[in-house]
Amino acid sequence: MPELPEVETVRRAIAPALEGRTLEHVEIDDVRLTRPEDPLVVAAELTGERVERVDRRGKYLIVRFVSGRALLIHLRMTGSLLRDPAGSSHLRALLRLDDGTEVGYRDVRRFGTWLLLEPGELEPYLGARVGEEPLVAAFTAKGLGERLEGRRAPLKAALLDQRTLAGLGNIYVDEALWYARLHPLRPAGSLDRDELRRLHSAIRKALELGIARQGSTLSTYRLPDGSSGSMQKEFKAYGRLDEPCDRCGTPIAKSRVGGRGTWFCPNCQPLEPI
Ligand SMILES: [Zn+2]
Repeated sequence: MPELPEVETVRRAIAPALEGRTLEHVEIDDVRLTRPEDPLVVAAELTGERVERVDRRGKYLIVRFVSGRALLIHLRMTGSLLRDPAGSSHLRALLRLDDGTEVGYRDVRRFGTWLLLEPGELEPYLGARVGEEPLVAAFTAKGLGERLEGRRAPLKAALLDQRTLAGLGNIYVDEALWYARLHPLRPAGSLDRDELRRLHSAIRKALELGIARQGSTLSTYRLPDGSSGSMQKEFKAYGRLDEPCDRCGTPIAKSRVGGRGTWFCPNCQPLEPI
């Protein structure tokens, strides 16, 4: 599933194509994409809208229109936006722009969603679902500690909860916990100040590296020009069962936390604090 770095990479690539452009013609060819709204109705509503800016919150892409409306796109498992999509398979929607170019929405497994929000609806919608952005200056180790305080859930589960922090998923949580030398099953509220500082900087490090590598391509994630990200070559923990830990050489272990495959170094990420 695309996480913050993958969605941010898509945003950076697609924003120049969309910003300032008017949607001249919109086709949505998938009832699941807009449900419970009728895709024909949503396509008609979008036609004529002019794009002001393309933003991101957590794993959501936000296409903001000059009218004050916003299209909230969640790519879920396999959604992606493509420039010049002619000939692509699994296209579920097509935006024809007033400069004659096209942007397509491709989704193999069809879990992605498009939600058209009226002016004033965006902030309350996101506010109820998405916590702080981990890459903004206002995100501090102290603030992270406040979000985790008193929580007995495993650290990994707390970080996967989008209301704790926006945009982390299975890959970047495992990577951040490896950098922070923290076991995924540590109770979320049990971290001391030094551990919180390590976790705070580790989350940023993992996400920033992911953005710098244009995300990780494991199955179907592609950039809007069809190319792949390369973060998967830099994984320290995720998916590396039995491979030597880059720090200590111990084979990486795998378990399940909250139903998700979880990779960690059993030596440098001990369950008991050192
Ligand atoms: Zn290790």
